[in-house]
Amino acid sequence: MALIPVEEARARILKGVAPLPAEDVKLAHALGRVLAKPLKASRHQPPFDASAMDGYAVIAADVAAAPASLKLVGLSAAGHGFKGRLKRGQCVRIFTGAPVPKGADAVVIQENTEASAHEIKVLSAAKPEQNIRFAGLDFRKGDALLPAGLTLGARDIGLAAAANAPKLAVRRRPVVALISTGDELVLPGQRPRADQIVTSNSHALAAMAEHLGATVVNLGLVPDKLKATERAIHKAAKADILVTTGGASVGDHDYVQEALTNSGVAIDFWKIAMRPGKPFMYGRRRGQHVLGLPGNPVSALVCARLFLKPLINALLGLPAGDDLVEARLGASMKENDSRQDYVRATLVEAADGSRIATPFAKQDSSMQRTFREAQALIVRPPFAKVAGPGDVVKILRLDF
Ligand code: AMP
Ligand code: MG
Repeated sequence: MALIPVEEARARILKGVAPLPAEDVKLAHALGRVLAKPLKASRHQPPFDASAMDGYAVIAADVAAAPASLKLVGLSAAGHGFKGRLKRGQCVRIFTGAPVPKGADAVVIQENTEASAHEIKVLSAAKPEQNIRFAGLDFRKGDALLPAGLTLGARDIGLAAAANAPKLAVRRRPVVALISTGDELVLPGQRPRADQIVTSNSHALAAMAEHLGATVVNLGLVPDKLKATERAIHKAAKADILVTTGGASVGDHDYVQEALTNSGVAIDFWKIAMRPGKPFMYGRRRGQHVLGLPGNPVSALVCARLFLKPLINALLGLPAGDDLVEARLGASMKENDSRQDYVRATLVEAADGSRIATPFAKQDSSMQRTFREAQALIVRPPFAKVAGPGDVVKILRLDF
């Protein structure tokens, strides 16, 4: 099979992908979820004409000139409205958030009054409507408050609550099952033998997938054996996405492709024209997407960033959302071969918006430290020519 270009691989993975169904969640569980249906207001906010101040509800015509003396006839507090109707010459003590009594059309603030037993002297003239929040000031019944496709934040949840929505319809979280293959792997905290290393892929991938809004099922470490790999793949049958790492090439100990095929996965492609990440595999088993990532941690995560992220986003009904931006090179780069390179780089952004991306000298795909320290990947298209400092390149910001 020929190496397929990155863009084609993405298109094949995303082909026909529709957002997952909606489910209702309580507001307490809505943070970070993606709204599946727009939220419309089921009531006015405020639901009644409310005072914006502590003071006295008055008839503005009584206080057109100041000072003016009014008879105090009652009280309107938040949650306890005044039942009667205000008549000329009367006022009602009122507090912020309390309903403005019938008949009243203005609120004077208490700082502008002098109170005696049943008389209130208003010291400055009042205008109609002053210090009143009219019903529907904030939003009106039927208003569109939150659009579908929104990733819900604290303010969104507050607004939904104010609109009296106890639950929101959100996209079901995609379930991502993770399998790490390799006889050499132990879990963090275990004691590796001299010929072993500590797994990092599944931890980084789990964090990435969770951050993107998926639910992660970590199926752990699987030895380089066909049957064990098949068993793990079987356990992942219900996931929306199965992600494997390692064992994806054609070495003597690489069983992933064979195990996937034996498990009913139709492999779409398994070689991609990019670096890092050539042995990246993609297939489908019924509705399930299967991403076979390379074992090298940087390759695995760059592939996940390029292919898993847009897939999760598509299942959540979100745009792929990863536009490349331009930067100038801080160092020279040699010409490229037929693979698209994703080169770890530092990124310095000047106040004027210009950016300088400087590649790390060493780019081995096992090197997680420079990956962690990089702020961007310089995207070098196939057959890119030699480039020098100051030349414009495309970059992908690293934000995970
Ligand atoms: P493989 O794709 O299985 O040939 O693995 C390529 C390289 O990645 C080898 O050096 C593996 O030891 C390493 N590797 C594989 N899986 C992991 C993992 N889960 N965490 C860290 N390194 C890994
Ligand atoms: Mg391996």
